[in-house]
Amino acid sequence: MKALVVEDNVNLAKSIATALKEAAFSIDVAEDGKKALHMLEQGGYDLLVLDLGLPELDGISLLRKLRHRQNTIPVLIISARDSLDQRIHGLEVGADDYLCKPFSLEEVTARARALVRRAKHFGGETLRCGRLEFLPDAMELRLDGKPMSLHRRELEVMEYLLINQNRLVNKDQIIDRLSTADESVSYAAVETYISRIRKKIGYDFGLKTVRGLGYYLDSRSLESIDLEHRGQGYE
Ligand code: CA
Repeated sequence: MKALVVEDNVNLAKSIATALKEAAFSIDVAEDGKKALHMLEQGGYDLLVLDLGLPELDGISLLRKLRHRQNTIPVLIISARDSLDQRIHGLEVGADDYLCKPFSLEEVTARARALVRRAKHFGGETLRCGRLEFLPDAMELRLDGKPMSLHRRELEVMEYLLINQNRLVNKDQIIDRLSTADESVSYAAVETYISRIRKKIGYDFGLKTVRGLGYYLDSRSLESIDLEHRGQGYE
């Protein structure tokens, strides 16, 4: 799960980032609205934690732009503007939840988790492709209903490929999805994850490489996974 925290108070941004990291989120931070909008356009985030009073572009305008562009990312507003009007306005413009400063970090974490859970439940429920299915809440990949043992990074790659099944995904997109401001992922690492996934599920299971361009999951091939060629990951 990857979240973008948009907050111009550097110390508060740091505290929120630390709390969310402990709750298993990968975190990027933006200090102004314009930068945040640019980062959100690259995609790959599961949650936006948004302050309202921001330099360059304020939170409400940012949110309005996002929703206007059909971006449905769950949004948690955190703001000192605690009048009822502001709160209602934020929700009308398309926020999913609203926290007034000061708040406890536990509260932010709890709300963040609930929003992502809700979004996954309604929007990104179990992902299916042929005989594979991915359960986002449990971070579990199954083949014919049976769990497979993949590492966290491999699961994150698979989740992304499943979301984009039958569409070409390049290495930069995978790197964007996996990287955070503190932890970057190399091209070589992506290649390693892909080759490990192939070995575990069986080499001909439908994860296709288009040389020089990227990868895609082919749902038609996944209908007919060759049981003889399934690898060690199957338990
Ligand atoms: Ca502010």
